[in-house]
Amino acid sequence: MKAGPTTKTVKEIKVDIDKCTGCRACEMACSAYHAHPRYSSINPAKSRIRVVADEINDEYVPIRAGDYTPSECNGRHIYTINGKEYSECSFCGASCPSRDYFVEPDSGLPLKCDMCESVPPLEEPMCVQVCGTDALTYVEREVERDEKLQPKRGQIEIGLESLVNQYGIEAVTESLKQMSKA
Ligand code: SF4
Ligand code: SF4
Repeated sequence: MKAGPTTKTVKEIKVDIDKCTGCRACEMACSAYHAHPRYSSINPAKSRIRVVADEINDEYVPIRAGDYTPSECNGRHIYTINGKEYSECSFCGASCPSRDYFVEPDSGLPLKCDMCESVPPLEEPMCVQVCGTDALTYVEREVERDEKLQPKRGQIEIGLESLVNQYGIEAVTESLKQMSKA
């Protein structure tokens, strides 16, 4: 169904961790798709999806990169899953100052899943396409538009200013150039 004037399409990737084998094909495909030029290299350190692995207990949890956060979490918790303890950070998708997950190794800029949006669009994101066990599945659904939640120009400027303060104008400009070529 096409999005109407009062609705918008929300794209989601559903994760079924019971089906994940920890093969890491999603990490490789994501990094290859976002390489410059596209598919020119594979480097899971540049992937926007990361598989948290516990081989002994055969548990694998794919986590996609979300927004950068400049502050470290206050609420640290321990999760126990099937008798094994995981810290809250284990399943967090944010790039943050506490750790080097979801940080582009060359530029130091935060990585974020962009749902592989490109022109022409892919039928499904790359990580979903290569996942042979259906641990990742792509869904689109229509939701009502909330005008209050539309991004404001000021928010983009605040985000850019924070990146420039942290990484410098040259690194941010170079990253924007690379993104525009993708
Ligand atoms: S490709 Fe699928 S099965 Fe393999 S690690 Fe990624 S989510 Fe898990
Ligand atoms: S949707 Fe695309 S950008 Fe996001 S994790 Fe999957 S392959 Fe990477």
